[in-house]
Amino acid sequence: MTAQNKKPVHIIGGGLAGSEAAWQIAQAGVPVVIHEMRPVRGTDAHKTEGLAELVCSNSFRSDDAESNAVGQLHWEMRRLGSLIMAKGDAHQVPAGGALAVDRDGFSQAVTAALEAHPRVTIERGEIAGLPPAEWDKVIIATGPLTSSGLAQGLLSLTGETSLAFFDAIAPIVHFDSIDMDTAWFQSRYDKAGPGGTGADYINCPLDRDQYEAFIDALLAAEKTEFKEWEGTPYFDGCLPIEVMAERGRETLRWGPMKPVGLTNKHNPTVKAYAVVQLRQDNALGTLFNMTGFQTKLKYGEQSRIFRLIPGLQNAEFARLGGIHRNTYLNSPKLLDETLRLKADPRLRFAGQITGCEGYVESAAIGLLTGRLAAAERLGHDLPLPPPTTALGALVNHITGGHIVTIDEGPRSFQPMNINFGLFPPIEGVATTGPDGKRLKGPAKSQARKQALTARAKRVMEEWAGGAEE
Ligand SMILES: Cc1cc2nc3c(=O)[nH]c(=O)nc-3n(C[C@H](O)[C@H](O)[C@H](O)COP(=O)(O)OP(=O)(O)OC[C@H]3O[C@@H](n4cnc5c(N)ncnc54)[C@H](O)[C@@H]3O)c2cc1C
Repeated sequence: MTAQNKKPVHIIGGGLAGSEAAWQIAQAGVPVVIHEMRPVRGTDAHKTEGLAELVCSNSFRSDDAESNAVGQLHWEMRRLGSLIMAKGDAHQVPAGGALAVDRDGFSQAVTAALEAHPRVTIERGEIAGLPPAEWDKVIIATGPLTSSGLAQGLLSLTGETSLAFFDAIAPIVHFDSIDMDTAWFQSRYDKAGPGGTGADYINCPLDRDQYEAFIDALLAAEKTEFKEWEGTPYFDGCLPIEVMAERGRETLRWGPMKPVGLTNKHNPTVKAYAVVQLRQDNALGTLFNMTGFQTKLKYGEQSRIFRLIPGLQNAEFARLGGIHRNTYLNSPKLLDETLRLKADPRLRFAGQITGCEGYVESAAIGLLTGRLAAAERLGHDLPLPPPTTALGALVNHITGGHIVTIDEGPRSFQPMNINFGLFPPIEGVATTGPDGKRLKGPAKSQARKQALTARAKRVMEEWAGGAEE
């Protein structure tokens, strides 16, 4: 049977991920059907019937492929023949070091390319439950605003606790930006817990004046509002910190900032008035999340206010906090390493529903999922991109690189952008500049980023070359 005669791969959702997946499958010689519900049924954020509509900003963020992780992901996607990147480049508008696009021109070009492709069929209509049993290969790329009919179908496969409808994102900090001369490792009451050592959390101590100043800053800070259609998802146990502070100045000290069961090893005789705890977020130990610090503060306010916390004065954030309407899976638990649902492997997932975040990341996971589905249909074996590439680091975060739990606390798998904290550490980075002087601060960090992206490009070249053979 030739590739042309093969049964199609069905893709549900013609957004960033679904469009890219469809292109990759069709280019590999396999027929594909995209099922997109717009305009028959809309979402609360999309405004057009175009494929790959950008629902908010028109930016693909930094295009710097040497010292920015998303810039490196752009590079890898271009290398792999990404439709989203090709049309983004063709419809670029001036935006300094960022790649920003004319949103209508971009979406129309993606739609036209897919409509013109001989192996792509586009069907308009909602898939309102689990896909029909006769579809033997399906990619679900329905995004953060997956329609409720399909979401209910998925719930029946995943269970209540494994499909979320809102994210509740606590800020994530790069470990190497935390001042460990101020902070210290210790679990509350030195409890080891499952998978722990008794010294799993990083603790940042505040005295009374620092705590009061922190509360004042939280109360005065600018917040983002929910959009009307998002509703207000607050439930006790998952309140934004600023809402807790509004309920009383001591509330945080009895909640996520409680100082009990901890002894400051730098100052053992003085009891902290409050403590901020950070929990390891990825298996590499390069990222730590601020436990219980989900928030709707504006991004600029978050960086400013969280740097008031002793130990975090120079914190670099891999991601800032937020709470949004967002349908996504507990992927490390539910998906195999090729993004198939363990409970029903004919279903693959792509895009933001897998727990990545952002236009570019969603399209990147669409690209990989499309290639994996096409290889499977053609009977080829496609190895995964190594985690030293941006694409490999991203998929590794989604399916496995994440610490599920080191204690009884809520699971912390939350959507995440690509960032250097997801890349395995690198040895042998230059420690001196061309003038022979020791590199420090931003120059040292820049050298590390450039070494990471140079390694990623080398490894991606090898992987892409292998995939082309
Ligand atoms: C309000 C909002 C603003 C955002 N702003 C940004 C931003 O500024 N920058 C950024 O990088 N990221 C942003 N994101 C995050 C995210 O990256 C984008 O939502 C991105 O579009 C996700 O890509 P995707 O392909 O996974 O989903 P989408 O692009 O949303 O595509 C999913 C598609 O599936 C369709 N669909 C849903 N259910 C069904 C069904 N049952 N049957 C058939 N079709 C269905 C939808 O109509 C849609 O076309 C935002 C998200 C939201 C919700």
